[in-house]
Amino acid sequence: AKAAGKRQYRFYAQDMTRAAQAKLHLRGQLSRAVDTGEFELHYQPLVDLATGAIIGMEALVRWREANGRLISPATFIPLAEETGLIVPLGAWVLREACTQAVRWQVAGHPDLVVAVNVSVRQWEEATFVPLVQQILLETGLSPSRLVLEITESVLLSEPVEARRQAEQLASLGVRVALDDYGTGYSNLSQLQHLPIAQLKLDRTFVHPLPGGVRDQALVQSALTLGQALDAAVVAEGIETDTQLQVLRSLACPVGQGYFLGRPVPASEFALQHLQP
Ligand code: C2E
Ligand code: CA
Ligand code: CA
Ligand code: CA
Repeated sequence: AKAAGKRQYRFYAQDMTRAAQAKLHLRGQLSRAVDTGEFELHYQPLVDLATGAIIGMEALVRWREANGRLISPATFIPLAEETGLIVPLGAWVLREACTQAVRWQVAGHPDLVVAVNVSVRQWEEATFVPLVQQILLETGLSPSRLVLEITESVLLSEPVEARRQAEQLASLGVRVALDDYGTGYSNLSQLQHLPIAQLKLDRTFVHPLPGGVRDQALVQSALTLGQALDAAVVAEGIETDTQLQVLRSLACPVGQGYFLGRPVPASEFALQHLQP
């Protein structure tokens, strides 16, 4: 048994080494990719559920490797956060998304809003707000057309600082959205003092719909909270017509999901959603 244990340990150690090596390799590739610009943005529509109109889009980053393979952010965002590479990558994402939004506005869609994900690491950079200001100035995007999506995790370490920064952004006219709402740990009193313009209800709450009374009650409670905070609720992950109809019947104002449109490259987004 002792020998078996030892053998098992050795396998484990080998696995760890392999995993660590793979990670090191990925880290090297990622840092090169930031320099060589191997990233691209895909855009997913945000839809006014009452009218069906496109009100904007969320920018979602993808890594296009030299061999053409597309890597999902779920794979590299955590690593980019861990290594700090998310800071230059996030700045690129913000600049690119704002630039694209202006292109579409100029092309005849002046009211489109662009939503950009901001990781905790970026948010906590002392230069974050000046960076946002600079990019708005550079690209000419109106601050009111930018939504920055943050998660409840920004409230964990520095809630007071997070609030101060959200207020600063709000005073610039930039809107802040709370992403993945319902999956985090923030309490109501923390949210009460955060100037948020949007509450993005996580797709785990949309998925069970129509579901039972409880499932709908959870969505309803998010809608009520949204009203109390003066924040528009965005239902994420709408995959079926049934889910869409339930959300409409509950008067959820905005929706996003595969049923309304998948994330696609800019050219494809224009073809699918911005036809005159
Ligand atoms: P997220 O911000 O919650 O983005 C929504 C994710 O849900 C996207 O995954 C989107 O493709 C996916 N999604 C949209 N509609 C549906 C649906 O109907 N069903 C299902 N099952 N999924 C749907 P994606 O693009 O793989 O991004 C994953 C996460 O990576 C994002 O989650 C976000 O946390 C992060 N991420 C993506 N782009 C960026 C970025 O530029 N910066 C940062 N910091 N994080 C990013
Ligand atoms: Ca998001
Ligand atoms: Ca989300
Ligand atoms: Ca997320």
